[in-house]
Amino acid sequence: MTSPTLRFDGKVVVITGAGGGLGRVYAKFFASSGASVVVNDLGKAPADNTEGTTQLAADVVVDEIRRQGGTAVANYDTVENGDRIVQCAVENFGRLDVLINNAGILRDRGFSRMSDADWDAVLRVHVYGAYKTTQAAWKVFRKQKYGRIIMTSSAAGVYGNVGQANYGAAKLALVGFSNTLAKEGAKYNIYCNTIAPFAASKMTESVMPPELLKLLKPELVAPVVGFLTHESCQENGGLFEVAGGYVAKVRWERSQGHVFKTDDSFTPAAVHAQWKAVTDFSQSNFPETITEVDWIQQLERSKHLTTN
Ligand code: NAD
Repeated sequence: MTSPTLRFDGKVVVITGAGGGLGRVYAKFFASSGASVVVNDLGKAPADNTEGTTQLAADVVVDEIRRQGGTAVANYDTVENGDRIVQCAVENFGRLDVLINNAGILRDRGFSRMSDADWDAVLRVHVYGAYKTTQAAWKVFRKQKYGRIIMTSSAAGVYGNVGQANYGAAKLALVGFSNTLAKEGAKYNIYCNTIAPFAASKMTESVMPPELLKLLKPELVAPVVGFLTHESCQENGGLFEVAGGYVAKVRWERSQGHVFKTDDSFTPAAVHAQWKAVTDFSQSNFPETITEVDWIQQLERSKHLTTN
């Protein structure tokens, strides 16, 4: 059975860091689906892409889109000035419907050698950049009572990865950011989801084996971004791993836990004695909100709340 095409006619989409890699693919996808696209990137186009041209990366992508009959404008601001990127969308197209926070950099280093500059650069682009761009978009979305946002996390943030303390911190920050926006935005029809992609790009060409990179075409991430940002999609506050055609949802799992007596018997040794129960996932739950606090009921049951 083939599904009906999910089009973006009349919609305006901003994609940050769209001069290459995943962002470029998203830009071409949205433009070919009917959207007007702001292609943001501050970088130069790679020489192999344009036979040594010094053209800016965003311009190369805009030219590609226009040659195929699509509508796009370039924007060269850093995401740290994300308000200007959103302003560019509103000035050119009168509105904004979808924001893809995609721009990113790496400054990988073992933690003992990580400098303040390495830390700050990564946090500023990924976290502060997404904050600045999203906050400007949020004002437009609130007025329209409509908006779709994608945050781009990484398995390096969700699970941790050697040499990526700065990047991992930034990427998991975006999950927390997205979770809150999803809750604040829901009543205004503003939905926010996060992807943790794997794809062949400039960012990954030197860190992944070539045979794996062949499977991880960035084109295989775009359909998920397209679905999650379509107005028919009701998913909100989700985190998805997307790689080479594989798509899966990731969620928190909490063990049932153990309630200790809150008298003098609550010692490290008592914790040690119950550690198996604390870390036992056989009767786990999957909380999605701050109020799903299973332990309050457990404490109430054990009368700790009323007696202490
Ligand atoms: P890429 O390096 O090919 O593209 C990133 C783009 O962001 C570049 O064109 C760069 O010029 C642009 N950029 C960097 N700093 C910017 C800034 N301050 N303002 C505007 N643009 C800026 O990387 P990619 O692999 O396409 O990654 C896209 C996103 O996906 C990033 O957020 C990355 O962290 C994330 N990600 C990628 C992978 C992967 O496997 N490729 C894995 C996990 C997460």
